[in-house]
Amino acid sequence: MALIVHKYGGTSMGSTERIRNVAKRVAKWVRAGHQMVVVPSAMSGETNRLLGLAKEVAPARHDEAVQRELDMLASTGEQVSVGLLALALHAEGIPAVSYAGWQVPIRTNNAYTKARIESIADERVRSDLAAGKVVIIAGFQGVDDDGHITTLGRGGSDTSAVAVAAALKAAECLIYTDVDGVYTTDPRVVPEARRLSTVSFEEMLEMASMGSKVLQIRSVEFAGKYQVPLRVLSSFTPWDIPIAEEAASGTLITFEEDEKMEQAVVSGIAFNRDEAKVSILGVPDRPGIAYQILGAVADANIEVDVIIQNVSHDGKTDFSFTVHRNEYARTVDVLKTKVVPTLGTDRIEGDTKICKVSIVGIGMRSHVGIASKMFRALSEEGINIQMISTSEIKTSVVIDEKYMELAVRALHKAFDLDLDQPAAAAGKS
Ligand code: ADP
Ligand code: ASP
Ligand code: MG
Repeated sequence: MALIVHKYGGTSMGSTERIRNVAKRVAKWVRAGHQMVVVPSAMSGETNRLLGLAKEVAPARHDEAVQRELDMLASTGEQVSVGLLALALHAEGIPAVSYAGWQVPIRTNNAYTKARIESIADERVRSDLAAGKVVIIAGFQGVDDDGHITTLGRGGSDTSAVAVAAALKAAECLIYTDVDGVYTTDPRVVPEARRLSTVSFEEMLEMASMGSKVLQIRSVEFAGKYQVPLRVLSSFTPWDIPIAEEAASGTLITFEEDEKMEQAVVSGIAFNRDEAKVSILGVPDRPGIAYQILGAVADANIEVDVIIQNVSHDGKTDFSFTVHRNEYARTVDVLKTKVVPTLGTDRIEGDTKICKVSIVGIGMRSHVGIASKMFRALSEEGINIQMISTSEIKTSVVIDEKYMELAVRALHKAFDLDLDQPAAAAGKS
């Protein structure tokens, strides 16, 4: 008997029929003798619908008062899910109780719409488990020190589930979703993508942070920090398949590099079209300029991703960086009001139609020439690279958004990740 956490995403909870299926699957685990905590997302499309309603009643604003209400609103999606799932479990004859984040409580900071979990109290959950109940905890939400409801950012139910698993020292956290594991790239974009039976924690962290939304990045961070055994698997297998088979399916996130394991140089391709590029042209090339520009942006609590500064000519240079597309207008505003007046240039250019494509792989550490192979594959498709950023196990390029799918497909092929590649040639070192 073990304590297991299941997380079900929006599609898996997408209709009352699917919720009944989730209940049947959870009931199967209970009947096998496990203690179960379940963390569901809102029904698919619901969070978008709720945030869409907000846009209908008032134009988007960034002040705290508005962000607070967005969380109040968006958190209701998960509250519906937990109630329905508890009812469905009751119908299966399984005792179950549902909680909103604040009832557990899952404590977070007060960064509305992107709050971070600070602690999770386990007493209530443990006593329910001891009383033989399935505990269903709303994903995506928590409560700050002043009792305000917060949410954890889009895709945040993954993080709720892993954090709950860490707090309860669960034997495993199973993330049930609408694909049967982590693939070499999004299988919806590249049908030839292959499922990985295992992926290292570091690679998963890079893939998530580079845009693979199969796991929210903070969930992977939590799994690493607390060594939570984590698996991504399908919620669309028949609910009554044998537990042993189900528990071994999907993709396991591994924490130890197995030296014997053959390691692909590039394990996956991630992409993200959530960013926008901002350039300031003709900036004086003197100490303190980067700080002057990016300090003002950071003060406005805007996260900056890729940064590039060109070689200067006649003491002037161009400075470009990317931010989340949602923050683009605010970034330009900050530059115009705070930076331009002291900078000696007001030539600000922006491009919201960019995307970032990244190759990720632990094998990149010990192989040279991987980045150049990437650049060659892109040049063969006539794709212009606007920015480049690298780390030990990834290389990212910023390109025109309209070439995104072409770039991902070309790289997937160039690094021998396509399904039909013979295994011996599949990028093994
Ligand atoms: P859920 O609602 O279950 O949280 P998400 O839509 O958030 O599901 O995440 C699952 C989706 O992630 C898949 O449907 C797939 O399109 C996408 N995805 C992106 N990159 C990958 C990848 N490398 N492997 C698997 N799925 C991926
Ligand atoms: N319902 C939230 C969202 O759509 C959280 C999640 O699904 O993980 O982003
Ligand atoms: Mg998700």
